[in-house]
Amino acid sequence: MKKNIYYSLLISAMVSVSAAEETRQVDKHEHGVGELNIAIEGNAVDFEFFIPGADIVGFEYEAKTESDIALVNAALEKFEKFDNIFSLPESSNCNLVNSEIGINQDDDHDDHDEHDDHDEHDDHDEHDDHDDHDDHDEYDEEAHNEFVAHYSFNCGNIKEIDRISFPYFTTFPNSGELEVQFVSEIGSTSFEVEGDEPFIDLKGKI
Ligand SMILES: [Zn+2]
Repeated sequence: MKKNIYYSLLISAMVSVSAAEETRQVDKHEHGVGELNIAIEGNAVDFEFFIPGADIVGFEYEAKTESDIALVNAALEKFEKFDNIFSLPESSNCNLVNSEIGINQDDDHDDHDEHDDHDEHDDHDEHDDHDDHDDHDEYDEEAHNEFVAHYSFNCGNIKEIDRISFPYFTTFPNSGELEVQFVSEIGSTSFEVEGDEPFIDLKGKI
């Protein structure tokens, strides 16, 4: 229910973001640019991050080896604890009520299954077999994915949120900038946040 409120708020207040949501394609993202939507309504504040895998673990193919899987799992664990990612003023008395952490892997990856068809030709020409493997590796490097993290809070004193800080930049040294779209009942604002000034100032915006 909260999610519905969040999206309807975005659609009414921020047409550009709602359009982006509807047409969202993982492979269209820009490496080095993470997206964050923050929405405040009543006593609730929602955070939704879409971060290219390149910014988090340095690759975007589906983790298959033990070391890649370990990297991804370590990153997901960091997202699980929101204060690795951002922090809210203590005086706002915000409590986490819900969070969802995951990865959106692009669908093009299914195209790999077509390589099974090529296998039928392998009997005819073994050299082609090696070429196929090269193509396969290149294709993997072109795969894209995003870490997606959604956090919902209920706040005792939401007006006290005058600043949100982002330990995100030190938690993930590969990270680039964060493009933040902020919306409250007062209106909407966007911010570009980078590691040298890892916070947004919300005085007068809630
Ligand atoms: Zn990508």
